[in-house]
Parts: sequence; C-alpha cells; structure tokens
Amino acid sequence: MIEINPVNDTAMKCTLCYDRMQNGLTPACAQACPTASIQFGAIDELRERARARVEQLQSQGESRARIYGEADIVGGLNSFYLLVDEPEVYGLPSNPKLPSRNVPTGGALSAVGAAAMGVLGLVGLRKRRMDGFAAEARQARITRGADGTATLDTADTDEEVDRA
Ligand code: SF4
Repeated sequence: MIEINPVNDTAMKCTLCYDRMQNGLTPACAQACPTASIQFGAIDELRERARARVEQLQSQGESRARIYGEADIVGGLNSFYLLVDEPEVYGLPSNPKLPSRNVPTGGALSAVGAAAMGVLGLVGLRKRRMDGFAAEARQARITRGADGTATLDTADTDEEVDRA
C-alpha cells in the first residue's frame, strides 16, 4: 500500500511490519483487524482460503466475487484481494503491468540516443579536422620546379612534396 504522508508530502509504503516480523510477530493490521479481513500467512494456505471464500460467496449469489492477484495479474501477486466488484472500484488497476516490462524499450531508446550522440561527436571531430586542413592549405603555397617537383611552402617550413 502506497500513500502520501500529508505532513511532509512524501510517499509512504507498507513495510509489512518488518520490525514486527523480525520478532516473530504478525503484521499489526492483520493482528488488529476485528473481522479478519486482513490475513497473513503462508501464501499457498492463503490462496486456498481465498478460493474457498470465493466459492462460498458465489454459491450464495455473489457472482462477482473474485480474487485479484491470481496468475492473471502480473503472474500472481503475493498480496491479493477478494473483490466483489471491478478492481477500479477499489482503486486497483484492472490490467497492471510490471514497470520492468518498459526496461527493454527504454534501454533500446537509450542505446539509440547514445549511438546518435557518438555519430554527432565523430562528425564534429571530423569537421574540426577538415577545417584545420583547409586552414593549413590556405596558408600553404605550392611552387613547382622545372623538373616537375613541387615544393610546399608553409608558414613554418619549406618541404618538398613528392607529387608530380
Ligand atoms: S500495519 Fe499493515 S499496512 Fe501497516 S506497515 Fe504493517 S503490514 Fe503494512
């Protein structure tokens, strides 16, 4: 159960009374519930109990009785509910999805974004390099001798180029 703490405006989540469980006690709400609507125990035993209760309610004419949290809900919940109406009436999603199902899509989008950034970075580096070459070429002067030998005169050195 997740709630917003009205005092400090932060999300609060049920800890399943971790401190009580560490001391061999049942969660406080299960122990205090006067109608035993909240039950705690071994999951298989609780499922058996819930299914028996659904059968009992349906045999009494409550055809909408169902367990929310069986295998049809994200593979089965370890905390499930006996409902007698649509899940939305209780503030529960009718077709919940595990957040982890979004991870492959998000991961793929991140990889594509990273690849695009990498390509842009390479293009930027190449452009800077080509701009550098162009600037050097503008400053250089090639003179060609009578034998066809070309001499490259740059601002720093005179070097002979082996191109005819
Ligand atoms: S009392 Fe119940 S709802 Fe509150 S923390 Fe314990 S188990 Fe969770």
